Amino acid sequence: MARYTGSVCRLCRREGQKLFLKGDKCYSAKCVFAHRSTPPGQHGQARQRKMSEYGIQLREKQKTRRAWGILETQFHRYYEMASNMKGVTGENLLQLLERRLDNVVFRAGLGSSRAQARQFVLHGHIYVNGAKVDIPSYLVKAGEVVTLRPRSREIPHFKALREGTGRILPKWLTFDAENLTASVTALPQRADIDLSIQEHLIVELYSR
Ligand code: SF4
Repeated sequence: MARYTGSVCRLCRREGQKLFLKGDKCYSAKCVFAHRSTPPGQHGQARQRKMSEYGIQLREKQKTRRAWGILETQFHRYYEMASNMKGVTGENLLQLLERRLDNVVFRAGLGSSRAQARQFVLHGHIYVNGAKVDIPSYLVKAGEVVTLRPRSREIPHFKALREGTGRILPKWLTFDAENLTASVTALPQRADIDLSIQEHLIVELYSR
């Protein structure tokens, strides 16, 4: 299945919520959703109708999958991993998504969106505990340190971040702007996820 290459702002409008897919624009007055929040398409407004229970569960899954930029098969794999873990499946699922290396790079502010962060990982700019990791789905663990490849530090995008990223960090992450280094101090918890997600609906969908 191919990765979505259309307008990402359309996805926010489709899901009725800001998904922060376009970097700095999402945090500015230029955000499309701020002045056009109806579903996309010529009859987007008129198409808003009562959804079935299945439709509501499906939308919640799609919204979550799109926010983290995960393909369907991989997302289902995360669900299976989450259901085999101890604890609440929905919370485990969100924790697994948050632990992805591309998400950590985004959350630390090294990338302005998860898509950009994924590119940085794929292009070998990111080191974990001193060694290159170019797998965006790598799951970070508490105590790990995420930083840049030494020669990537001189790239203007990263150099500018030494002044600070302006990003509000989740409690499980610290960021040393001077050294462009993020430290994972604990595993992410449900309360640290700021997107409005009803994960129990995703669990209900997959349990059908
Ligand atoms: Fe969504 Fe706004 Fe960002 Fe576009 S700019 S991706 S509508 S949050």
